[in-house]
Amino acid sequence: MPSHAKLSPSGSERWMNCPAAPHMEEGYPDSSSIYAEEGTAAHEVGEVCLVKNLPASSQIGKTFNKCKLRPKGFVCDEAMADSVQQYLDHVRSFEGKLFVEMKISYQKWVDKGFGTSDAVVVKHKGKVVSNVLVDDLKYGKGNLVEAQDNSQLGIYSLGVYAYLKKKGYKFTKDTVFHLAICMPRKNSITQWDISLKELLDFGKKVKAAADKVHEKGAENNFNPGPKTCLWCKARFDCEALKKHNLDMMVEEFDEFDNALEEDIELKDPRKISAEDLAKIIMNEKLIKNWLAACCARGYQLKMNGEDLPYHKLVNGKQGDKKWNTSEEEVVESLDFLFDLPEEDVYEKPKIKTPTKVLALLGSERFSKADKETIESLYSQKKGRPNIAHVSDKRKEIVPDFDFDDEYEEEEI
Ligand code: SF4
Repeated sequence: MPSHAKLSPSGSERWMNCPAAPHMEEGYPDSSSIYAEEGTAAHEVGEVCLVKNLPASSQIGKTFNKCKLRPKGFVCDEAMADSVQQYLDHVRSFEGKLFVEMKISYQKWVDKGFGTSDAVVVKHKGKVVSNVLVDDLKYGKGNLVEAQDNSQLGIYSLGVYAYLKKKGYKFTKDTVFHLAICMPRKNSITQWDISLKELLDFGKKVKAAADKVHEKGAENNFNPGPKTCLWCKARFDCEALKKHNLDMMVEEFDEFDNALEEDIELKDPRKISAEDLAKIIMNEKLIKNWLAACCARGYQLKMNGEDLPYHKLVNGKQGDKKWNTSEEEVVESLDFLFDLPEEDVYEKPKIKTPTKVLALLGSERFSKADKETIESLYSQKKGRPNIAHVSDKRKEIVPDFDFDDEYEEEEI
């Protein structure tokens, strides 16, 4: 049995929106990263602690997830234990029967659909279920992932529902499913509460999307988009994504064919409509990620000795100079050879930033008066206004026209 279903919960944002994606991804090997493997180690810490009812600190110094990328595994340090503890606290704040690393099947909606849910807590009276928590630990500290409308969590919940139903549990119209994502390194715990009816309605969408993947011609049914393509294995080879990105940047897509002979005319941001600007901004991460990946791929081609028209391999900027011998020997030599006094060779120690000093002091040591005294020693510049998607939790502000730090309009 493969370790992942072809239409997996974690890839659902992709295949539920782009029927061609699973076809395009076939043949690409499963790859991992040191960050993903570290996340697996944190999950293992969480699993042991939940199963044995231990605090995460009990695992400090122990090794987890010995894998190809890190054969010696990852040692659980204080930082990892602190993060995992937040997840444990959240799971333990729910009353009920606990299932850890629960194997789920969602075959009723997706053929050969299976997966593993990190932690499930079922509150029931007799066989009647009142509440179900489906909790997902995400150990990354990059992109923030939130629970609301998260298809991965929705699919886990369908699997949990199917499992409990098979075991004879009963649900009512008042049963609530609490779908949660715990991202301790982003200080984020979010929850999406839905009724059984809402969950089953979501199941219909999952089934319809899975059916589309198996329809005739699905391999040509592309739907590129910011969330859909970000982690697609085919994103470097997908013509639909290339067109999607370039359409937003260049005046005429066909111009790209002549890009080796002449400069491509990029769209002038001052002439793009607000509607189109919004679309481009929503795709910012996808475009940047794609451009970075294109450069990385070009580099790899040259490093493999392959051809990349109009490009050559050159030496990059030299690294920083480093002393080859001990500090004492350097100081003595400079003094002996050049009469350079010791005080000229050394730099004065630099004061730490207020943030580092505050961390050093630890907030528990502060009285109100201490806090006021410390705060009088430093100042903090107001954050510059930023554009965020309407789903962002921060409060909307009105522009302050006194801002001295405006966006500078660049020459295009
Ligand atoms: S890169 Fe995007 S459009 Fe292309 S197959 Fe993948 S998800 Fe679909």
